[in-house]
Amino acid sequence: SIINQHDMHLIDQQTEQLSESADQLQAILDNSTALIYLKDTQGRYILVNRLYEKLFHVSRAEVIGKTSYDVYPIEIAENFCESDQKVLRTSIPLEIEETIQHSDGLHSYISVKFPLRNAAGEISAMCSFSSDITPLKRVEEALREQSVRDPLTNLFNRRYMEEALGREIRRSIRSPHSIGIIMVDIDSFKGFNDTYGHAAGDAVLRALADFFNEHIRGGDVTCRYGGEEFVLILPDVSLTETLGRAEQLCRDVRQIQVQYQGANLEAITLSLGVAIFPEHGDTSETLLKAADKALYQAKAAGRDRVVVAESA
Ligand code: GH3
Ligand code: MG
Ligand code: MG
Repeated sequence: SIINQHDMHLIDQQTEQLSESADQLQAILDNSTALIYLKDTQGRYILVNRLYEKLFHVSRAEVIGKTSYDVYPIEIAENFCESDQKVLRTSIPLEIEETIQHSDGLHSYISVKFPLRNAAGEISAMCSFSSDITPLKRVEEALREQSVRDPLTNLFNRRYMEEALGREIRRSIRSPHSIGIIMVDIDSFKGFNDTYGHAAGDAVLRALADFFNEHIRGGDVTCRYGGEEFVLILPDVSLTETLGRAEQLCRDVRQIQVQYQGANLEAITLSLGVAIFPEHGDTSETLLKAADKALYQAKAAGRDRVVVAESA
């Protein structure tokens, strides 16, 4: 082969440029906050970035030219390679959420994986970019929690209760079951606030929420329906059982002792209205209305008592 002086110079220049762009690429990848690697069609690492080395406690020298199976225990490698192989097999880019175990627990990643093609247009490699979205996930979870909870008592809010009741009613279409509703209102609470102050009233509302939480069972939903009104949803219970539970709440609420600024506050009493699905209503609206009407009758009859709704 005849390579003249001029060609040699060109090749040197190109080699230098190539190596410079490879260094630049590596610098970009190493400074990225994403976890990045490239694999060839055989699943062998072509390059990994610095975050990869840090997270998996390996150096690039240890992984380049090897597959995940060479480097990691089989379960981890399998988990790792499933989506990578899919991208290489189908040549379709993927966007997936992945979890990776860190020393401080599981982290959530959003990963983008896509095929790379050579000059002939054939798939020669795949690239994976993963961003840690664990903090976002935490915020998302906290927001979801907040949107269904009442901040004062941490009970579910009215919106959540209406959703939960709707869900229970729909579930009863597939597998018929009753749903007990207890609607609760504190007696003469305005007077209580007037005597002890609003902050003392808030302390009582929180104590009442704790009291409900102690008295509910798995599957029950307790919510703050309004200011000093609460709704309990008891799935799969009979009318007799719902009435029994309401009477127990009515009796036991007197034992709540709330201390406020060193003084024992006066005990509260409750009025309760009981309704059951489907006898007293076959929609959320009619059921709640029936319980509310029973509650109103309990107030009218002198408070501190339970009244069962009239059959619809
Ligand atoms: P009744 O026995 O007829 O239910 O009398 P009541 O005074 O409890 O009833 P009413 O509905 O007239 O008043 C409810 C009171 O509840 C009004 C308000 O002072 C109090 N309340 C509502 N929300 C809160 C709250 O978040 N904190 C406190 N401290 N009080 C509240
Ligand atoms: Mg009220
Ligand atoms: Mg009241």
